[in-house]
Amino acid sequence: MQKSEVMQKKKDFLFPAVFNYYNEPLVLEEGKGIYLYDIEGKKYLDFFGGVLTVSLGHCNEEIAAKITAQIKKLQHTSTLYVNKETVTFAEKLASIAPGNLRKSFITNSGTEANETAILAAKLYTGNEEIIALRHAYHGRSAMAMNLTGHHNWKMGSPNIPGIHHTHSAYCFRCPLDAQYPECEVRCAENLEELILTQTNGKIAAIICEPIQGVGGFITPPKEYFQILYDITKKYGGLFISDEVQTGFGRTGEKWWGIEHYDVIPDIITCAKTIANGVPCGVTITTDEIAEAYKGTTFSTFGGNPVSSVAGTATIEYIEKHNLLQNVKTVGDYFKEGLKKLQQKYPVIGEVRGMGLMLSLELVKENKIPAAEETAKLLEISKDNGLLVGKAGLFSNVFRFAPHLISTKSDIDEGLRILDKSFAELTN
Ligand code: PMP
Repeated sequence: MQKSEVMQKKKDFLFPAVFNYYNEPLVLEEGKGIYLYDIEGKKYLDFFGGVLTVSLGHCNEEIAAKITAQIKKLQHTSTLYVNKETVTFAEKLASIAPGNLRKSFITNSGTEANETAILAAKLYTGNEEIIALRHAYHGRSAMAMNLTGHHNWKMGSPNIPGIHHTHSAYCFRCPLDAQYPECEVRCAENLEELILTQTNGKIAAIICEPIQGVGGFITPPKEYFQILYDITKKYGGLFISDEVQTGFGRTGEKWWGIEHYDVIPDIITCAKTIANGVPCGVTITTDEIAEAYKGTTFSTFGGNPVSSVAGTATIEYIEKHNLLQNVKTVGDYFKEGLKKLQQKYPVIGEVRGMGLMLSLELVKENKIPAAEETAKLLEISKDNGLLVGKAGLFSNVFRFAPHLISTKSDIDEGLRILDKSFAELTN
């Protein structure tokens, strides 16, 4: 099929609301390691991994071999039957989960993982009201769109009562017009007033992304989540860490983003990197919380043997290749390189993030969001052979999520293309 034919069929047979990047959408044909190839054979350095999902290289041979063997042996069972691949994956997840988190509910996506977490919190606490953060993204079901704190991802959503949004620690654009650390993280303290004035004083949970992905990799200061955690506990709630983007070593040194904040959540949700591109999501919690999820439930594809094998293989690969440390080392190196670019190009207002989850917020004078420039730069960098992401409430954040296996020389290659692209943008 030629590119034009693919695009015509997409137009004819797929929902138009499912949007694509780029003026002329990219039709991909093949992936190998950290590179992607389009239908016309052009090569791209992939610094986005299909939105932080393929993190161990495209078509990773070790993982692909295990998936292929499993497909030939037992592909599907549903949760009505038990298989050893699912329990092995769950045991492996328990081994990397913090604190007493050791029971998993395996599903197919981040959205489902969050749905499960919210229901678990309501059933465990007996409370109904939920707190989420402004600038958050939690998925595309009605509940998840309501938890989301971005108008442009709440398409046609009905309003579910009992969901409230507290301040995000978006220091670059502080909602309270304060300055860290003198502010004493008032944005977090604000949660107490929200609970006392907007809820009945009893909450089921707060749900937070340790680094807000779609929000533009907003990275809160050290104290932020501890303050939110203490207030949440005071009013009877559970702390849910949405690690769909930050999980599985993405932030470096640790398996989970929230571990950088010295908070042990009651529930973790994860998806994306979890099976290196095979659809999979998980909700991990304590025995007590899992026990309170009473009733009968079922998932056709949840804990599918093929996804489970891919998940176990992903964890084993990260362990075997010591990738948590690699992400820290290579991530710090990348951040330094981005800071050098910031000195060269005034359009870069801020460099932020952790590990291999880094972003640039592009601005004009007085921090006015440079959305047009960001859109242009996305096109230019693609033309120059680099794939990255775009995000933020004002569409002015450039997101980078190189594969966890990236080396410093891969980063150098990306930085060279970025430098060239910024130069073209500003000329
Ligand atoms: N939570 C976060 C933090 C996400 O970034 C996403 C997806 N971008 C989701 C949940 C939803 O995941 P999915 O698209 O797999 O449903």
